[in-house]
Amino acid sequence: MHVHLREPGEEYKETIASGVAAAVAGGFTSICAMPNTNPVNDNASVTRFIIDKAREAGLARVYPVGAITRGSAGQELAEMAEMKEAGAVAVSDDGRPVMNGQVMRHAMEYARDHGLVVVDHAQDLNLSAGGAMNEGRYSTLLGLKGISAAAEESHVARDIMLAELTGARVHIAHISTVGSVELIRRAKGQGIPITCEVTPHHLALTDAAVLGFDTNTKMNPPLRSEKDRVALIEGARELDYDHAPFGVIGLETAVGVAISVLYHTSGLSLSRIVEMLTTGPARAFSLQGGSLKEGASADVTIFGPDRKSTVDLSRFKSKSRNTPFAGWKLRGNVVETLIGGRKTTG
Ligand SMILES: [Zn+2]
Repeated sequence: MHVHLREPGEEYKETIASGVAAAVAGGFTSICAMPNTNPVNDNASVTRFIIDKAREAGLARVYPVGAITRGSAGQELAEMAEMKEAGAVAVSDDGRPVMNGQVMRHAMEYARDHGLVVVDHAQDLNLSAGGAMNEGRYSTLLGLKGISAAAEESHVARDIMLAELTGARVHIAHISTVGSVELIRRAKGQGIPITCEVTPHHLALTDAAVLGFDTNTKMNPPLRSEKDRVALIEGARELDYDHAPFGVIGLETAVGVAISVLYHTSGLSLSRIVEMLTTGPARAFSLQGGSLKEGASADVTIFGPDRKSTVDLSRFKSKSRNTPFAGWKLRGNVVETLIGGRKTTG
């Protein structure tokens, strides 16, 4: 649901071709590409470019996410109708959250009218300004400026209220705190149309990992406390499959980390994990896939829940190497990825 392919504009970081190769290597048959490319995917021609490039690469299916505002600058709305027509499945200003509540309200109304999901990276940029890691014991210990939980939660609360007001389908990207889990749990209880995702990083790691200043532990939102991590796992355990898709960063480690942490360590069922990686995201963004029904496209990932592997950066298909999981021994991993019935991996 949440992948950065960096093309057009930043091909030295990742290309659509390297991104889809990483996807199938990690067991992903479909991925959603965030719009923070250069130029930003805020119009139909960029949307079409991404779809054409993905088709050329011929591996995982790529669903573009268009921008909410022009240039993701947070002011005027982007050409949502045209992007939807060209194949965009949702809109987001991921990484550059819409700070103006009125702009967000209009964006939700417009997206609702065009059948698009609004994906928000929930972060108050004023509250988080200058922060490098979670605000807490470890930021004090390390002398780094912290990012408070409130920087995320205040925007989650705003988005819930605007979702209720507008009736738009809203999806909160990569939640990281206890408070966000609680806000979303309560909103769902009230029938507000909201979903969320969590990354493997936030399920597997805490801000204690920042000790030693490994820059691979620097991410936005930051790794949080153990209390937050446990709340995120509980959220994954309880929230029903329709409403709890699983966000992923790190295509080639996500399945292994999810099975290791959620199944082997925390006792979630394998079927629950499969739902979070397949039917949950497919429903949230109204995508095909996530089904083994007769007649469905044969996008199938075969994995071994006890298959042991070590995360080896030299074998990554992605151009990107910034993972905190290098050298981790995982239990549970992908064996083969089929797209439309065709084998894609060795
Ligand atoms: Zn984001």
